[in-house]
This record gives sequence, C-alpha cells and structure tokens, in this order.
Amino acid sequence: MHIPFLDIEKITQKYQPHLSEAIVATINSGWYLNGKNVKEFENSFAQYIGTSYCISVGNGLDALTLALTAMKQLENWNDGDEVIVPAFTFIATAEAVNRSGLTPIFIDIDNNFTLDLRNCEQLITSKTRAIIPVHLYGKPCNMRILKKIANDYGLKILEDAAQAHGAQFENKRIGSWGDAAAFSFYPGKNLGALGDGGAVTTNNEKLAKHIQILANYGAENKYYHTYQGCNSRLDEIQAAVLSIKLTQLDYDNKRRQEIAQIYATHINNTAAGNIPYTRDTTQSVFHIYPFMSPTREKLQSYLARHDIETLIHYPLALHKQIVYNKSYGYLSFPYAERAAKEELSLPISPVMTNDEALYITEIINKFIP
Ligand SMILES: *Cc1c(COP(=O)(O)O)cnc(C)c1O
Repeated sequence: MHIPFLDIEKITQKYQPHLSEAIVATINSGWYLNGKNVKEFENSFAQYIGTSYCISVGNGLDALTLALTAMKQLENWNDGDEVIVPAFTFIATAEAVNRSGLTPIFIDIDNNFTLDLRNCEQLITSKTRAIIPVHLYGKPCNMRILKKIANDYGLKILEDAAQAHGAQFENKRIGSWGDAAAFSFYPGKNLGALGDGGAVTTNNEKLAKHIQILANYGAENKYYHTYQGCNSRLDEIQAAVLSIKLTQLDYDNKRRQEIAQIYATHINNTAAGNIPYTRDTTQSVFHIYPFMSPTREKLQSYLARHDIETLIHYPLALHKQIVYNKSYGYLSFPYAERAAKEELSLPISPVMTNDEALYITEIINKFIP
C-alpha cells in the first residue's frame, strides 16, 4: 500500500464540484481582485477566528511582515528593535522580523515545540518590542502565560498561526489571543488555497486599517500614498476557494486528530522513537505529526522501503542556517537542535483512512534499528 505524505489532489477532490463551480463563476463575473469574494471570505474568517478584523494578503510571510511593520510604525519602534522568535520554526517567522527592519532574538523551544516560556523573561531588554509565538505543527503555545509576560513588560504579541488554523487554547481560537495573528493559506496548510494566500486577524481597528494601507501601496485613498507600502492581496478565485474549504475546517481538523489518536494509541516501539505530547490529541490540529526518533534516517528509509512517505520539519534550526549562522551560530538551543535531529513527520491529513494509519503503526512497531 503506497501512502503519500500528503495527498493534496485527494483533498481538492473532496470539495468538488463546488470548487470548479465557484472558480467558473468568478471567471464569468469579470471581477478578479478586491471584490465580493474577498470581502466575504474576510468576514467569515474573522467570524470563525473570533476577531473583529481579517485583512487578506498575498501569503503568510507578507501577513507576518505587514503586521509587524504596521505595529512598528504605529508604536514608533526604532530600526533594530528586538522581537523574540523561536529558534525552531519555518524561516518565514524570523525573515518577517528582518524584513520589517527589526532584530530577531532567538529563544529555544520546549517539549511542545513552542517557545520556552520559562526562558522568555531573561531575554527581554529595553529594546524588546514584541514576541512571536509559533503554534508549531498545530499545537498552541500557552497563550495565558505568554500574555501575562507580554503585559508585564509592555510587549506586543504577533501569533504565527500559519500551522494552526482552527486550533483552540482554553476554548478560544488561536489567532484571537495576540494583538494580531498571521495565517498562511499555502496549499498544504490545514486551510489551503489552490495557490498562495495569507491573512492577518486582529481586534485592533487602527492596526487593521494600517495593514490594509501598507498592503495597498501605502495608499489611504487611491493614488494618494502616505507610506512606503507594497502590493499584497488575495485574489477573488482563491477567496472563493477558501470560503468553501472554511466550512469544513473543523471537520477536517477532527479527522487529523483521529489519525493522531491512532498513532498515539498504537505506536509502542520505543526503539523507533516517541510520540509527541501526551496521549491526549485534542490539544493540536496536527498540521504535522512530529514523531521523535533517535534513529530518524534509518526509520525514514525503512518506511520508504514500505512505500510510506515521510518528511522532516525542519532539518536545521534557524540559528544554524547559513543566513543566520554568522550572527547567531554560537548560541546553543538544545531542544531546537534535538528537534532538528530527531523529528520525522508521519503522514497525516483529513483524507487519510484509519486503515492507512493503522498500517503505518504496524510497520513502525516492527522496526528494528
Ligand atoms: C507556511 C508558514 C509560513 C509562511 O507562509 P507562506 O504562505 O508560505 O509565506 C510562516 N510561518 C510558518 C510557521 C509556516 O508554516
């Protein structure tokens, strides 16, 4: 039985013929940008997340960058001011800080793969302005503790929610906890478009308006430019696709949790590695199922021989990347480095069957290092 890491075609098929119909309707409407599909999606996504505003943009990196740049301008931060970012995440999180003219300050992760809250306060200086929690793999960072730290020190929180669409912390959606949150709708995400897309959610009207202006060439009114902006927008076709897929997001996430529950219940070969978190799988929306294996390379090729495709998220922590190594390479983040060495992403998706997941657990349980 061949099991792909993620069968995006099958996911798309699940929404047919509705996607094709919506795309054709958009084609025939003759209106492709800044139209009613985008408005409609922004409204339903804001309502789903539980914020007053959703500003759609071109991709997740833009969402992060525009939110940070808007905060910087509204709060009069200086160039080079500091933003705390986990050392283990997709590079976009840190890249957005640099693109905004700010300085990333890396922090280790903990057992949950989210930033180590016990180490946070000691990194705060007179130049610290914000913290970016990444809800990595779909597991929320403890926003209660983080918010207390941010309040105590007067820092902003920008959530990187690019892997956590629909996740909740204490019954409140991720994306509604921080001062703002950035989402990506890259096709492989829990809520994915058929191309690029992104959004910022926030309850702050001023911030929402400023992000909108920056994303539209810095223009408050058409052809009158107040700020140095950029062009970043979601198009009408992607917005229509996302509105359709949003209606099934909770159901899709529940399927991911059921697959994760099968892994957590049935994998019992500690020589192969360890399941993540506790056995309670309701705490994450499992964008990724991070199996931790001390013999990762062997396990990965063993699974490949059994036609089971796995990936590694991510093979190198940020402070060790060539682009950051010169400034940060001397630092040591044991959990980040261990995750880079041991993490193996098992197949997980809303279109996987229980039988496929059970088959994978059987094969893993027979692994001899
Ligand atoms: C996917 C992702 C992004 C960036 O999203 P793009 O749409 O690809 O720009 C940012 N942060 C994290 C954690 C991501 O996984």
